[in-house]
Amino acid sequence: MQLEGIHHVTAVTGNAAGNLDFYTRVLGMRLVKKTVNQDVTDTYHLFYGDEVGHAGTEMTFFDWPNVGPHVAGAGDVTAVSFVVPSREVLGWWVERFDQEGVQHSGILERNGRGVLPFVDPEGQRLELVAGEKPGTTPWPKSPVPADKAIRGLGPVTITVATPEPTVRVLTEVMGFQQTGEYTFPDNPSRRARVYATGEGGPGAEVHVEDRVQLPDARVGIGGVHHVAFRTPDDEQHKEWQKRVMRAGLRVTPVIDRYYFRALYFREPGGVLFEISTDGPGFATDEDVEHLGEHLSLPPFLEPKRAEIEASLKPLYAPAAPAPVGP
Ligand code: ZN
Repeated sequence: MQLEGIHHVTAVTGNAAGNLDFYTRVLGMRLVKKTVNQDVTDTYHLFYGDEVGHAGTEMTFFDWPNVGPHVAGAGDVTAVSFVVPSREVLGWWVERFDQEGVQHSGILERNGRGVLPFVDPEGQRLELVAGEKPGTTPWPKSPVPADKAIRGLGPVTITVATPEPTVRVLTEVMGFQQTGEYTFPDNPSRRARVYATGEGGPGAEVHVEDRVQLPDARVGIGGVHHVAFRTPDDEQHKEWQKRVMRAGLRVTPVIDRYYFRALYFREPGGVLFEISTDGPGFATDEDVEHLGEHLSLPPFLEPKRAEIEASLKPLYAPAAPAPVGP
């Protein structure tokens, strides 16, 4: 039983409309689902991914305008990355970011891959990473040409005050193995260790940085709420629930998120982890052609649709934006 890699990353925005514009128009991802937070139903939960929202391609956002800005620190996901097909493509993205006024640094070489760090308009720490990511399909209507397009999630970097307990959970409970270690090229005082699961590759890595002196992070706008890992089916998902519980970690029951099943636990360094099933996927309640165009609600919230819709600000996906290029 092996986790296959990263399933999705969920972060916080305070501006759903700006968030939608940045991730779909600037980054060229597809809004594959527009729904609400199942526990806070007057707030949007937006999912961006590839053409169909394959597991491993989604960055999702809770729209929480009142939580305050994210405070970075220990127990934090300090970078989320997206895979692009090659190092050469990173140069195209530098030009795009300059045209769009996106803050970015130079192209770096890290852990054997080209990396372009940047931030979204709310300071979300993001990176493009050159590499291979099989099993994903770019959105044909994306404003970003297919040969430059984001292929899905790459490594997440987590920062903890004391790495040993986190590393023990990653390796002894979750089955990750250390595959490398690097110094940050833009700041040699920072180091991270690389852990990989399943077949490995950029979509299956967690990078662990230890920063003893940092106070704890506080999740808010521009930060990450949790990172989820992939398991193929419900049988293995139930086994993971038992395995995490046997390790002495507090884990939730299996929760039906309708597009996948989920369970949650906090790793000892403070980062909230989720393990999710690959299926059933985002085309369960909408056909692939029209993903994300209407507000989707899980069946248990459907009876309250009128009330929920009235509590939300209208939010429209941009209609097939004109391609930019080359
Ligand atoms: Zn999640």
